[in-house]
Amino acid sequence: MSPAMTKQPNPEAPFAQPPSWADQDRRWQALSSRDPSSDGAFFYAVITTGIYCRPTCPSRTPKPENVRYFSTCEEAEQAGYIPCKRCCPKQPSLAERQAEKITLACRLIESSATSFTLAELANQVGLSKYHFHRLFRQKTGLTPKAYAMAKREQRLRESIHQQGSITDAIYAAGYNANSRFYEQSGDILGMRPEHYRQGGEQAEIRFAIGECHLGAILVAQSRQGLCAILLGDDPEPLIQELQDLFPKATLIGGDKSFEDTIAQVIGFVEAPEVGLDLPLDIRGTAFQKKVWQALRSIPPGETLSYADIARHIGAPKSARAVAQACAANKLAVAIPCHRVVHHDGALSGYRWGVERKQALLNKEAEGETL
Ligand SMILES: [Zn+2]
Repeated sequence: MSPAMTKQPNPEAPFAQPPSWADQDRRWQALSSRDPSSDGAFFYAVITTGIYCRPTCPSRTPKPENVRYFSTCEEAEQAGYIPCKRCCPKQPSLAERQAEKITLACRLIESSATSFTLAELANQVGLSKYHFHRLFRQKTGLTPKAYAMAKREQRLRESIHQQGSITDAIYAAGYNANSRFYEQSGDILGMRPEHYRQGGEQAEIRFAIGECHLGAILVAQSRQGLCAILLGDDPEPLIQELQDLFPKATLIGGDKSFEDTIAQVIGFVEAPEVGLDLPLDIRGTAFQKKVWQALRSIPPGETLSYADIARHIGAPKSARAVAQACAANKLAVAIPCHRVVHHDGALSGYRWGVERKQALLNKEAEGETL
């Protein structure tokens, strides 16, 4: 999971520098081809008609020897020419009107906490969806979506300073409850958010969110080792879950150096038989730790029952407590609680959903036959 490269727009100057139109040959080329990018850059007058035009004027192309160039309408009028009625050179140019529309769209994106659809934005500035998308990209160098993403990231960075929790900050930055944060999490977590306080305990926990065949995956690491591997449909509840599990820790959205770790963990979740060569920070009661240790001795592709585990740890009557310890596991797959099933073979529960348990077991069963 490499972070997607994000082109950073310059919010102060989103528009590219216009080309220089001082050169006469270029001017002639522009007017004879009605080059739209030259519109507003200069004007031309025709000495035989006494009229001056935009270089994009649809009128018949004059003979080059009859053309005079001017930088502004004023200069053309001072020289005695009158404005063309077809191209109206004194009105704002098409480029200027387009730039106004795109500027308006940028402001709409920036000022709104919720996200617009492409159709909504295009409608707001009076353009077709297709034309708007093309024009936006042409003027800013970014698609409207990329621009909105960059802006939201900027807001997220800013609001993390002010909001109480990462989740609050995400909402304040305008992310929807589900999809958007997910597809962008690599970008977002590529930055280093400020530490924020949750009760003053010194422990720092770094985390990052990725994607695996089971859905969203959150990997968290304390100074001692991996302390949480959580699975879910969407990233935001996972962040909440992490906060609930470690209410006093300072959570730090994964910095760059964390990418190798999450890549390694995802690789392991995809193929548990390769093993996980990372230290675990296992926090629990003595009994839970005993159960979890026993779970780690079950090889991929095999299952045991709760009663088997209870016997294995020398507490044969504690099958129910074993089940509870399994449910309290914070390290999905690394502590393979999915390999514990009912004695009759039924899957029983799984902290991260029975479908995921089934998917994991199926995958490991496939791995066995290879
Ligand atoms: Zn004209």
